[in-house]
Amino acid sequence: MIFQDPYGSLSNNMTVAEIIAEPLKLHKICSSIEEEEELVIRTLEDVGLRPASDFVDRLPHELSGGQRQRVAVGAALVLGPDLLLADEPVSMLDVSMRGQILKLLLELREKKGITIVIITHNLAVAKQISSRIAIAYLGEIVETGETRQIIDDPRHPYTKALLSVVPVPEIDAKRERILLTGETPNPINVPPGCRFHTRCPFAKEKCSVEEPSLITLPDGRKVACHDVGVDSG
Ligand code: SF4
Repeated sequence: MIFQDPYGSLSNNMTVAEIIAEPLKLHKICSSIEEEEELVIRTLEDVGLRPASDFVDRLPHELSGGQRQRVAVGAALVLGPDLLLADEPVSMLDVSMRGQILKLLLELREKKGITIVIITHNLAVAKQISSRIAIAYLGEIVETGETRQIIDDPRHPYTKALLSVVPVPEIDAKRERILLTGETPNPINVPPGCRFHTRCPFAKEKCSVEEPSLITLPDGRKVACHDVGVDSG
């Protein structure tokens, strides 16, 4: 697990080496201190903290935000996981650092064959880093598919609204913005029928009583909306 805030997720009383080694100790991975030290050094190099000897004895407050997040990635990576779960891994970082951490995650995915699940509210980040996207509203997936399907041709009204407000870096780009009205309902008191009906610009009477199922469209994506059927093309 990689947490959102590297200023809160790392203990300020532990050195970088102690933070990386802690999961190894907890899971009793290494049979000697030499093996543990070697794994810590290799992991620091893997996450771009080089030379590793310059970082092992530092405390988190002596590092930049980007370096801290690299330590957090290292602490998740050191056990050799098949799956990393990253909760908004760049949202607390300076814009200049975000690209570097995303690049690091992409490199780790390629080099080590790790599957990475990223939780983000930033669709530009999702577009840049992911091969598949699942859009959730009030805790349920409303649309899921390959990244190019979701980004180029969103089908669920909530996905359309989210994408309509993502800035396009082109001077002449024109995009119709869909601004949702009303508050997001309380997730412990989800509206009946379609959970999005209180804010959906396309809601019909049926939407407030009947919950749409997540159906598979001919292109393989899944959508939960009464307005998007298998014949919608
Ligand atoms: S089911 Fe109805 S309210 Fe829900 S997203 Fe589709 S059109 Fe909108």
